[in-house]
Amino acid sequence: MNIVLLGAPGSGKGTQAAMLKEKLNISHISTGDIFRANIREGTALGIEAKEYIDKGQLVPDRLTTGLVASRLKDKDCSNGFILDGFPRTISQGEMLEEEMKKNGKTIDYAIYIEVTDEKVIERISGRRVCKECNAPKHISYDNLSENSVCDKCGGQLVQRDDDKEETVKKRLETYYINTKPLIKFYDQKKCLIVVDGKGTPKEVYDEINNTL
Ligand code: AMP
Repeated sequence: MNIVLLGAPGSGKGTQAAMLKEKLNISHISTGDIFRANIREGTALGIEAKEYIDKGQLVPDRLTTGLVASRLKDKDCSNGFILDGFPRTISQGEMLEEEMKKNGKTIDYAIYIEVTDEKVIERISGRRVCKECNAPKHISYDNLSENSVCDKCGGQLVQRDDDKEETVKKRLETYYINTKPLIKFYDQKKCLIVVDGKGTPKEVYDEINNTL
């Protein structure tokens, strides 16, 4: 099964992708995680991508689409994948369609996790991620204290640079202008599923699961 996850920053795409990956035994591809790994490793891609990410802007297609096209050809994607954070523009959506066609595949579902801006701000301001395994956590929902570490791998929990307030505002703006039009794009392709993202991760997951 090939799935695209759509939703504003902080809508819970990463959390749902991790749960769906387990359930469906398919690969989770997060372009944000790929960029962050490159930033940590100090690669040329990471250095260039960081300039855009820190401003809440999209990383240009010349750095993004080739990377995704090549990742989709990896063996672990042959059983299916969940794309989290890609596509983020109509042109990326079209590129993905072409790539899928070339490989004789289709996107089965585009799952749109709908949340209000207030919820986005609440979630992002309290979000922490594990420096080692990228697992997302939340100060209030997960009862974190200053000394908390990742419950999966013991890694340090940190706030993403682009989760700071000013950058979040810009990311939301970028989302509305560039990414939201993809909802109509996938609706027209008759593969759109809309779920209410305001509940707990488990509630949202159950809604996705029932619909699938
Ligand atoms: P995310 O972890 O999905 O919130 O992504 C973090 C940041 O990485 C975004 O705010 C963008 O700057 C960049 N990014 C991630 N995916 C894409 C994409 N498909 N196209 C362009 N930029 C992206």
